Amino acid sequence: DAEVVLLGRSNVGKSTLMRELTGHTFSTGGKPGVTRAPNHYDWAPESFVLTDLPGFGFMEGVPEERREQIKTDIVHYLEEYADDILVGVLVVDGKSVVDIIDRHSARDELPHDVELFHFLEELGIPAVVAVNKMDKVDDRDERLNALCERLGLLPPWQQWQDTIAPITAKRGSIDPLTEAVRTHLHDAKRDDLF
Ligand code: GDP
Repeated sequence: DAEVVLLGRSNVGKSTLMRELTGHTFSTGGKPGVTRAPNHYDWAPESFVLTDLPGFGFMEGVPEERREQIKTDIVHYLEEYADDILVGVLVVDGKSVVDIIDRHSARDELPHDVELFHFLEELGIPAVVAVNKMDKVDDRDERLNALCERLGLLPPWQQWQDTIAPITAKRGSIDPLTEAVRTHLHDAKRDDLF
């Protein structure tokens, strides 16, 4: 089945975004870091499944080992279903993502967000970065350009509207994301004709 996957650190607003995209309510509660099987939902009117993968990265009270396992599960899921996945939506927190990336880079660690972005590319899965919580960001263009640089995309960010989608899921402003995803879905359909 044609599939769009959502991935992102915990607390970036994935559940809020799922709710906006599907019109359903999902419990955001539960224990953080407890591995869920990927959840599948239909995204009407486009016919594909939207898969919500478990949140990765730091979570209060979740041991390192558990967090690594979640990351590994996500990587395996992407590898296994790469052929069916039309778009990978990497959700990030627009207010903190650049700082988080830089903090990891400073310690010579590969930041998860950057790693997964490139991993999607390697698997041939078009990646869209949903830059959420833009309501909290004052220096919008600078932040988005900085994020582009960290991801190896040449600024200005406006050149990358198929890849960089600034949104505020909480207020339902997600048009840049649905537009970006649609572009890739239509590209995929066109590819099927040849
Ligand atoms: P998840 O862990 O990625 O599923 O994140 P949630 O959807 O549970 O959201 C985590 C927190 O971020 C909640 O307090 C949300 O209300 C908040 N949040 C989600 N989207 C936005 C947004 O667009 N702007 C702001 N300011 N907060 C948001």
